[in-house]
Order: sequence, then C-alpha cells, then structure tokens
Amino acid sequence: MSAQYRVDLDAFARNLHRVRDAVAPAEPMFVVKDDAYAHGLEVLVRRARSEGVRWFGAFDVVTGAAVRAIAGPDARIFVWLIGGADDLAAGIAADLDLGVGDQSLLDDLAALTADGSARVHLKIDTGLHRNGIRPEDWDAALARTATLVEQGRVRFEGIWSHISEASDADDDDARALFLAARDAARAVGLEPRFSHLAASAAGFARGEFREDLVRVGAFSYGIRPAGGPGEAELGIEPIASLTATVASVDSQGVHVDVGSAHGLPSALAGRFDVATSAGPRRVEAIGFTSLTVAPWETAEVGEPLTIFGRGALCSATDLAELIDTIGEEIALRVSPVLPRVYTTGRA
Ligand SMILES: *Cc1c(COP(=O)(O)O)cnc(C)c1O
Repeated sequence: MSAQYRVDLDAFARNLHRVRDAVAPAEPMFVVKDDAYAHGLEVLVRRARSEGVRWFGAFDVVTGAAVRAIAGPDARIFVWLIGGADDLAAGIAADLDLGVGDQSLLDDLAALTADGSARVHLKIDTGLHRNGIRPEDWDAALARTATLVEQGRVRFEGIWSHISEASDADDDDARALFLAARDAARAVGLEPRFSHLAASAAGFARGEFREDLVRVGAFSYGIRPAGGPGEAELGIEPIASLTATVASVDSQGVHVDVGSAHGLPSALAGRFDVATSAGPRRVEAIGFTSLTVAPWETAEVGEPLTIFGRGALCSATDLAELIDTIGEEIALRVSPVLPRVYTTGRA
C-alpha cells in the first residue's frame, strides 16, 4: 500500500462544534482556501454543511463558486480575492458575499450591477497591508459605497479586516482602527450586518475580537498555532495524518514508501520520530519518494507507519516548529496527487 493522506471526518466534525462553542455568540465562518488547507474541498464542505456550518470563507471567486455548487443555495460564501469586473460578475452570479478591499472595485460595481444583488463587505486595512482600503481613503470609499447603496446597486453587508494575530498589542491597534472605520460607516448611514476581523487564534483567545463572524481555518482542521497553546488546551484535535508503509529493510535502515508527493521538507531529516511496532524511531533521511527510518529488529515490509498528524508522534505544527514555520505550511505541502482517504468513526 502506498502513502495516503487520511482525514478523520468525525474528528473534523468535533472540531467544528468546538469552534462553534468557542466563538459563540459569534458565528464561525469555515475557511476553505487552498483546497480546504489541502484536505480536499468537496468532502470537507459537504461534512461541514451537514454539521450546520452556514458561512464559508473561500478566498477566490472560482473556489467560491465551487463551494456554492457543493453547499447549496442557503450557504453564505465569502470571497476576498477579487481581480476585477469579471471576477465581480462571476461572484454575483454565484451569489457570493464579496470582500471589497480595493476602491477600483467600487467603480466596477457601479458599471456592473443595477439590481442590488451584490453583497459587499468593505475591508479596512488595519495594518497588514495585504489588501484593504487604507484609512486615509476610507471616507471616500464609504461615500462611494453609500451612493451605490442609494442607487440600489449594492447591499452593504459588512465591514471586515484581517489582523496579524502575532501580538496582542498589534491586534489591539488594528482593532482600534477597525472600530473607528465602523463608526465612520455608521456616521454616513452604512450599518454593517456583519463585522469580522478575527481568525482562529484571536477568535478563541480574545472575546472582544469575535464581533459577528470569526473566520476559522486552522483550528477547524485541528492545526494549533506554532508556539501557542496545545490542542488539548484549545479543545481541538488533528484530523489528518500522512501514513505510509515499510517498503524495504537493508543495512542502512528501514525505507518507507511515501510516494512522490509527501511534501515533507528535507530539513526535517534527523529531527523527528515516527512510531513503529518497536517504539519511536528517528526519521534519518527524507528523499523524493521515501523516508529512511532508524532500524528496528522486527521491521517488516508492509508495516504501516503514521508519519505525522493524527495518531502520530508529531502533529503538523510539531514538525513546523522544528523548522520555524507554521503547521499550515506542512499541511499545504501535502501534494494533491497523494490519495486522500476519508474515514469516520474512531478506527
Ligand atoms: C486564511 C485566512 C483566515 C483563516 O485563518 P486561520 O488562522 O487559518 O484560522 C481568515 N481570514 C483570512 C482573510 C484568511 O486569509
């Protein structure tokens, strides 16, 4: 049996319920960018929907339209990477909630829509400078938006931002800018139905950041923050594991077939252990299609091993911390050509 990326859907469902409880009374938005953090968009969106998830964060319009097809007409699907008029038109056609972080999109909207069907969430740049309307341009953007609303072209649905979650002080500064931007909107008669600025970390740790929606990616997948609280403290569990089998045993060690697309950074060689039938053994080398593991007497071809993730000795974030990155990076490196296997139940 060759390598697999196994996703426990019941564990995923437990995380979703934990997220819902943790951010209440705000509502979670399940973030599914990058093929649901490489877990597989379709299966995860379907399960999330059946667990009662209503809001999805899809990043771009193509993904948003795909989520619409999977999740059905009642889901709310937020996208925030919008390239221009064509993207806007496609987003409106798929009934998406449009995150607008660029004033030129307001001009495009003016040219496009006449029937008030475009639901806009204006993004204030609160310091990350990824996209978002700069504070000095905010009043002009509000005036433009108010005109579009009066003309019946757009519905003003929300105000949002994205924060670094790197330090409480930076996040507090970002939140102050956010609240000022919302006050300014209210002053010109634009009342957001949905305010949102937190992702996983601030949504769990900092009640005042929850507002109406919390956009949660990592914690839904059981990926804890590097250098932050552990899974048990957060009440989440890893849902995915990379599994592989022993392919051969020789004088150099035990060679494990991990397929051509395991994605493990070679910098991890010599730095972590996998559980074997004889106890933990160090992963000594990482090649393109195989790992070499320190030998054990009873190693046999075909012995299954869990390399990282659920049920393994190291989670994605444990590995990430060894090489100064974040758990999402380890997860996203698992190539889409590695078969995904979805399981339910505790087995
Ligand atoms: C990826 C992303 C999120 C989710 O962040 P997590 O830390 O994975 O929960 C939320 N909002 C935006 C804008 C994002 O790009």
